[in-house]
This record gives sequence, C-alpha cells and structure tokens, in this order.
Amino acid sequence: MKYRLLDVLACPIDKAFPLELHVLDEQRGENVKREKVACELYCSYKKTMLQNPGEEWVKYCQECLGIDVREAVLLCSRCGRWYPVMDSIPRMLPDELRSKKDDEFFLQKYKDKLDKRVIDKGVIGRA
Ligand SMILES: [Zn+2]
Ligand SMILES: [Zn+2]
Repeated sequence: MKYRLLDVLACPIDKAFPLELHVLDEQRGENVKREKVACELYCSYKKTMLQNPGEEWVKYCQECLGIDVREAVLLCSRCGRWYPVMDSIPRMLPDELRSKKDDEFFLQKYKDKLDKRVIDKGVIGRA
C-alpha cells in the first residue's frame, strides 16, 4: 500500500481518522510526477493534517505515492486496535474475522520493532 491510503482509511470499528501508521518495511519506487497535492485530509508520510496544503506538499506527496509500504501496523488511537499490513495489503478485519494465529505470528515476528501500545493490546483475533 501507499502512504497515500492513510488519507482515506478509517478504523472499521469506530471510524476514527486518521489511523497511525508504523512502518516496518518499505520499498522506494519511482516518484510519481504530480501537478496537484496527492493527500487531501491527512498526509501519513509527514504525519500532518492538511488544511490548506501549499506548494511544498506537492513534493512530499510524490513520496506518498512513490513508496510502497510492505509491512506495517495501522493503529487506532481511539479503540487501541491494530491492523497489520502484510505484503503491501492492509488487513482491516472486524474482530470476529481475525485469526488469532495470524495475530500471534505477526506480533512475534515484529516484537522488537512494534509500538508498545500494539504489544500491550496483544492478540485481537479470536478464531
Ligand atoms: Zn502526502
Ligand atoms: Zn478504532
């Protein structure tokens, strides 16, 4: 996924926006040439809410579109749920559809890199 996606993603449970993005692995691709600002409400690359984005955002948001976020955590600061990004795909499932096994695997794999709030929340999946 691109950083740009955080401009439109909200927590599926409580609709909180924006979500926090904690990147674990990213891959820099080609910068995308753009005439206009890419992010409209929230730029997750610069972690900034945008109200009247000026010229300087054009170059930042080229990065939003040029970098592929391969592994990451999306964290909802309202309900505390976290959602993994694996193989560039955000997995935004409701609790009952999450896999406990997958949650455990992800937490174990990145235990040294994850935000403490994610570790404290722990496994969310039940199935
Ligand atoms: Zn941006
Ligand atoms: Zn939430």
